[in-house]
Amino acid sequence: MGRVNGKVGLITGAARGLGAAHAEALAREGADVVLFDAPSAVSTTDYAMSTREDLDRSAAAVEQHDRRAIVVEGDVRSQSDLNGAVDRALSELGKVDFLVANAGIWGQLAPITEMTEEQWHETVDINLTGEWRAIKAVAPHMIDRQQGSIVLISSISGLEGQALSANYSSAKHGVIGLMRSAALELGPHNIRCNAVCPGFIDTPIHHWQAAYDLLAGHPGGTREDRDNAARFYGILRARGPLSPAHVSNSVLFLLSDESSEITGHELPVDSGHMVLPHFNPAPVDA
Ligand code: NAD
Repeated sequence: MGRVNGKVGLITGAARGLGAAHAEALAREGADVVLFDAPSAVSTTDYAMSTREDLDRSAAAVEQHDRRAIVVEGDVRSQSDLNGAVDRALSELGKVDFLVANAGIWGQLAPITEMTEEQWHETVDINLTGEWRAIKAVAPHMIDRQQGSIVLISSISGLEGQALSANYSSAKHGVIGLMRSAALELGPHNIRCNAVCPGFIDTPIHHWQAAYDLLAGHPGGTREDRDNAARFYGILRARGPLSPAHVSNSVLFLLSDESSEITGHELPVDSGHMVLPHFNPAPVDA
């Protein structure tokens, strides 16, 4: 018997990376899933979003576990796209037990003073407002049934600041406030809401030149520099960039009945990054 046997849920950003890993883990443990991704153009990232082909690959991984996968091309910037995904879940799978609001971008790096309105708004629209829209899409049905579990994907950057990514860090902090508010509003309907805060995970979100340069600490950074930077991220022995499956394990726990009395919490998956003492790496002397 799987840990989420017979449950049905919606996963946004499900075509690759963390979202695909959540889908595969949930299917392995007995869930049917609606996989939502392949957005329209995102103009303020330096890497590409997923395609229909990525979504189909993610669906095939679900089907290998003999679970159903419904593929929906859509954008979390569109309420009607998300409502349509819930409609598909209801008509084809009969219910929605859970939501994983996972879709997100890491926009082009820019200091606060140079960040454009578009860079700010696109990240907030996808990373924060998109998660609010996803809750809006599933909550009425969950309220009708007086049951449900929601996991919002925030970030360690939702718990600490991130230089050159104030849009990203602000949106991810906002997700924590959204999660706590949803836990308060939906708790009386027996609907739980928690957040998972991934640390340094090996997904396509890191694979672009300016990200390599940032993690290397100099121009001309490489993938190897990124992997090396990950060694300094946490406290646990011999860790590099974590596998998406490490995060999916926490998502699975929070969606299963094993966590039936847990709501309103954020769970870092960070190899102990948050307990490290912080020193100023480059103090400016008078
Ligand atoms: P990723 O780029 O591999 O996957 C993100 C997915 O979201 C992509 O498939 C993309 O097409 C989709 N997406 C983006 N914008 C969308 C939109 N407007 N509508 C629908 N889908 C959209 O990155 P990932 O690392 O798997 O990221 C998943 C989540 O985890 C994001 O919210 C990210 O911020 C968060 N996160 C990742 C890390 C990490 O180290 N990888 C750390 C902390 C938080």
